Amino acid sequence: MARRKLAAGNWKMNGTRAALAEAEALAAACPAPGCDVLLCPPATLIAAMAERLRGGPVRVGGQDCHPAPSGAHTGDIAAEMLADAGAVAVIVGHSERRADHGETDALVRAKAEAAWRAGLTAIICVGETEAQRDAGKALEVVGAQLDGSVPDGPTPERLVIAYEPVWAIGSGRTPTLEDIAQVHEFMRARLAARFGDALADGVRLLYGGSVKPGNAAQIFGVPNVDGGLVGGASLKAADFAPIVEAAS
Ligand code: PEP
Repeated sequence: MARRKLAAGNWKMNGTRAALAEAEALAAACPAPGCDVLLCPPATLIAAMAERLRGGPVRVGGQDCHPAPSGAHTGDIAAEMLADAGAVAVIVGHSERRADHGETDALVRAKAEAAWRAGLTAIICVGETEAQRDAGKALEVVGAQLDGSVPDGPTPERLVIAYEPVWAIGSGRTPTLEDIAQVHEFMRARLAARFGDALADGVRLLYGGSVKPGNAAQIFGVPNVDGGLVGGASLKAADFAPIVEAAS
């Protein structure tokens, strides 16, 4: 099956309203991209960004959501609220949330279910630490995260997996292309074993971790890599536009 690539930007805890100009510059730089383009700004910017980008090629997503649709959860945001603000997708299980907030696979799964309940695509992040890779456990770790974090009942439209080795995030280091290929092939096979070939063939598997304009084309050319989840290089249109181009 031909999968349309996805270039997704994760702004993390960066950006105030002044940064909306970068989102508009990105949309202007990629008027008709040959891939899907998503920006996930801080929650404070979602509504304004969605409004400014409405009708254009760049969609907007959240970086996290709570499993519940509403309630006494101070500081949290429901998937329904993200959708109401104009988001079409949400990242769940990013390694920074797994590390900073102790998020377990079970919680990530519940968040992905919440995303689907609200009509959002869930971008579920998995990836090993450096110690786990050095111990030869990368596939074991990623397999267990996939098993525990992906809910039953996925569709190719509402599920995206992002393989993000923890040690590659923000470090300027990336796995070899062979290692990326191995993990992505493994993930597709793991999804096929649980959900069948049709689902596994349709789901987009992103690579994330120090994707830059200079390495994006090579990484996106690896078999089973259907685009990227990009942190630092998504903050500026001048950096992210060539990455979108590489995915197109
Ligand atoms: C990320 O935060 O998902 C990420 C991949 O960050 P960076 O591109 O900065 O490594």
